[in-house]
Amino acid sequence: MEKDKSWATLLKEGGQRPIRSKPINRQQMLLRAVEVEKLVEKDHPVRAIWEVVGRLNLEPFYVEIESVEGVAGRPVWDPQLLISLWLYAYKEGGSSAREIARLCEYHPAYQWLTGLEVVNHHTLADFRIRHKEALDQLFIGVLGVLSHEGLITLQRVMHDGTKVKACASDKSFHRKATLEDHLRLAREQVEQMGDPQSEERSQRVAKAQQRALREKQERLEEAIRALEQMEASRSEASEKKETRASSTDPEARVMLQAKGAYGPSYNVQISTDARAKIIVGVGVTQAATDAAELEPAVERIEANLGEKPKQMVVDAGLTNQATLEATAEKQVDLIGALPERKGVAEKRMKQRGVSPDFYPQAFEYDASTDCCRCPAGKVLSYETEERQGASVRRRYRAKASDCRGCAFQAQCCPGTKKGRSVVRSEATPEMAAFQAKMETPEAQAIYKQRSGVAEFPNAWIKDKMGLRQFRLRGLVKVTLEAVWACLTYNVCQWIRLCWKPQRLAQA
Ligand code: SF4
Repeated sequence: MEKDKSWATLLKEGGQRPIRSKPINRQQMLLRAVEVEKLVEKDHPVRAIWEVVGRLNLEPFYVEIESVEGVAGRPVWDPQLLISLWLYAYKEGGSSAREIARLCEYHPAYQWLTGLEVVNHHTLADFRIRHKEALDQLFIGVLGVLSHEGLITLQRVMHDGTKVKACASDKSFHRKATLEDHLRLAREQVEQMGDPQSEERSQRVAKAQQRALREKQERLEEAIRALEQMEASRSEASEKKETRASSTDPEARVMLQAKGAYGPSYNVQISTDARAKIIVGVGVTQAATDAAELEPAVERIEANLGEKPKQMVVDAGLTNQATLEATAEKQVDLIGALPERKGVAEKRMKQRGVSPDFYPQAFEYDASTDCCRCPAGKVLSYETEERQGASVRRRYRAKASDCRGCAFQAQCCPGTKKGRSVVRSEATPEMAAFQAKMETPEAQAIYKQRSGVAEFPNAWIKDKMGLRQFRLRGLVKVTLEAVWACLTYNVCQWIRLCWKPQRLAQA
């Protein structure tokens, strides 16, 4: 087609009759009647959200409202509406108050919820973080609805931790000296701001700038406090490492992400009932590993549902001595992967270039003398003992002179100047019993179900809701964000398993 000539012109020049098309008038004004009730279909999920929220006890949200009938003041938005807006937004993968406010202007589902009104984004943002206790009660209320439907039994609960990126970049992590420099600068800037009332700029802009600087100063002060706490609590082994804290989110911690990269994150702990994959407990921690997270998870479930789970199923990251003792005390059956899988010791030997004929099992232990004997008949004497998790590791070592003159040294301990050592690992009685249980086919069959149940909500929350990174900062606020996401997940399960089938049956 020639430049600057429409198809109609070209066809006319070519002797063809021009087509008759409908005109597009973008200058017109149109008044249109909207029947709000018909904005969404009868089986639209937004109706289900409104319905289930309406069934719950929202009193904890209402008691804080000061605007009442017969007294001067502006009316407020009903908490049922604000909760429904957030739940629908999370369901659709949104987690921004500004985005919801924008969607209220044109999206049929949001318009149906609000009755064609637009809710201010400040109202939405404040509501999301202002009602921690009430939100916890709402989460419990939804669990009550799901339990009533028979979707929660607590016979078997799978527990897993997943890392979610914090709202901070790698570059926001600084050493103490750098943080102090930034803090000094921020304080100077705050002092130079002066009184916003006397500024020539608009008072609104001046106040916003002053607030932003104050918040920056507070974050830096918090980062220095967090860094000092980390320095005080770190172990001797990690003392050589330099401690850093984020100036953007001082409560975020550097953690290993799923794909092997390290980044500022929080560790979200989710417990899922196996009956219908319902989340029965959610928590957020700053711990980089899940090792100590099972006992708090059991306590959360008990607080939410009034009873303990009969059985908890976990991966190897949670099976340790403390967990075994805690679950035994709480009379919760524990099923899980063994902390050190078979083959790991062999893998290490292979990496060191040890021949299979000289793996630890080739060294005979003599209990009467408490020493080992190597394939060449030399004695390995007891050297040290250390407790590691649920096992006691006793090390035995051969004399260096025996190994130096040995014909098997290249296969047995290549490149080692000291004599060869072997470690005998003895399980604690609790771990020995757990290992015996986990070798049974029944326990193995239960454990195989773990990933399908435990990882399902994690994947849903990250992939469908897009919660791969928190929008909010600080442990309290990211916990609220995690609870909103898990609450939405449970409501979606209720829609899928209860509300939709009922609608279909009525149709
Ligand atoms: S290298 Fe040392 S431990 Fe290994 S077989 Fe020879 S003497 Fe025994």
